[in-house]
Amino acid sequence: APALVWFRDDLRIDDNPALRAAADSGRPVVAVYLLDESSPGIRPLGGAARWWLHSSLHSLSASLSGLGVRLVLRRGAAGTEIPRLAQETGAGAVFWNRRYGAAERAVDSALKTGLREGGLEVASFAASLLFEPWTITTGSGTPYSVFTPFWRACLGGPPPRAPIDEPETLDGWDGDVPTDLLGEWRLEPTRPDWAAGLREAWQPGEASAHRLLDEFLAHNLAAYDEERDLPAQQATSRLSPHLRWGEISPHRVWAQADLARRGAPAREAASASRFLTELGWREFCYHVLFAAPDLATTNWRREFDAFPWPPLDGDALSAWQRGETGIPIVDAGMRELWRTGSMHNRIRMVVASFLTKNLLIDWREGERWFWDTLVDADQAANAFNWQWVAGSGADAAPYFRIFNPELQAKKFDPHGEYVRQNVPEWGTDAYPEPIVDLAVTRKAALAAYDVVKRSG
Ligand code: FAD
Repeated sequence: APALVWFRDDLRIDDNPALRAAADSGRPVVAVYLLDESSPGIRPLGGAARWWLHSSLHSLSASLSGLGVRLVLRRGAAGTEIPRLAQETGAGAVFWNRRYGAAERAVDSALKTGLREGGLEVASFAASLLFEPWTITTGSGTPYSVFTPFWRACLGGPPPRAPIDEPETLDGWDGDVPTDLLGEWRLEPTRPDWAAGLREAWQPGEASAHRLLDEFLAHNLAAYDEERDLPAQQATSRLSPHLRWGEISPHRVWAQADLARRGAPAREAASASRFLTELGWREFCYHVLFAAPDLATTNWRREFDAFPWPPLDGDALSAWQRGETGIPIVDAGMRELWRTGSMHNRIRMVVASFLTKNLLIDWREGERWFWDTLVDADQAANAFNWQWVAGSGADAAPYFRIFNPELQAKKFDPHGEYVRQNVPEWGTDAYPEPIVDLAVTRKAALAAYDVVKRSG
């Protein structure tokens, strides 16, 4: 009886423990990806994420078929579709890699129980995080809410396991079951086709993830800590969407960067450590999500529930979304996002601060817009970072730290290169006046924050 490998946020062959377990089981292998938009609590993918998923599945399907394994595509609720496929294929075992959102965990654990009751072997594996959330806790057994001690605890324990090499061959199941056609899912935009800029900026799939990592390690790792805040430079790894979709594992990234660090002079080794710490932030986001499942909708620090957000100003929100606020560095970021499905980390912080503190718009509006437009839109990192900037989150920047976008631009884009790349009409009459006064709105934000302070 075949082994079913259920692919989810792990669209890769390399370092894939579920796939490895199937290969080692001696059973013929059948792979499935399920587009689940109907299980309770599963958040529908945003537009940019759907675009990414389409290409990534295309690429995964090709790699699997190179190994003799067919990728079956199905759509529906996991609770019915996975048992159905197991029955159609006569599977004797089902393997998957773990997910960490509450809704996903509920789906997975119900399935595990149900399938086992039906006599199937079921096993789940650690693949998407370096450290499983329940293994990193404070002395009193609670999750960490501050990054530095969290990361110290991670580094103080056993190191991340070594990545598992991809199977050289697999015994593909030779039976036949119906599969959806990828094109039928309409994950890609048609009219209008807004994805041209995404196609130009990105190539989803495992092969390009590995290529980006190799290039980054060879050319950018040594100066990463000096240049990572400069948006006009391509100084960071650009691995985030690949990690989001599991096209490359954090273990593989860790192993290669750590190897580079060990061979490097002190200065460069420190830069490599800085890069590894960013992977640590990714871990921290997931550990916080694991402890606070409604991170995308609920203030992590509950005293922020008292924050007096004014009624939503739809025009201001839409100016922000379109990159027409009249604040060049903000508009550059928002246009980069719209065009490429991504934005430099430093600028994400600037636009998020501007939305929540100068426009006084609730961080959840920003989180939703990013969810829809980012190719790396991630349920842990997006919600965590929005709350971090807003001041309502775990280990967050204090609310009163309000970025001044003009100073940020001076410091991190001193020659206006990044702004010019994204806002060609900057400096001409066609460019709008600022929609708000930065100093006045800053004061209003601080006054609003006083309400939280008083209630806290
Ligand atoms: P690098 O600098 O090369 O870092 C390597 C990896 O570390 C990244 O690929 C990413 O996986 C991880 N990482 C780096 N910084 C962070 C961070 N602050 N939080 C969590 N992980 C991090 N990142 C996402 O992956 N998905 C999101 O939806 C997302 N939303 C964000 C929203 C806001 C408001 C902000 C301020 C940040 C957000 N980030 C998000 C974090 C960060 O901006 C991106 O991970 C980073 O820009 C990706 O570029 P890179 O791969 O070149 O990063």
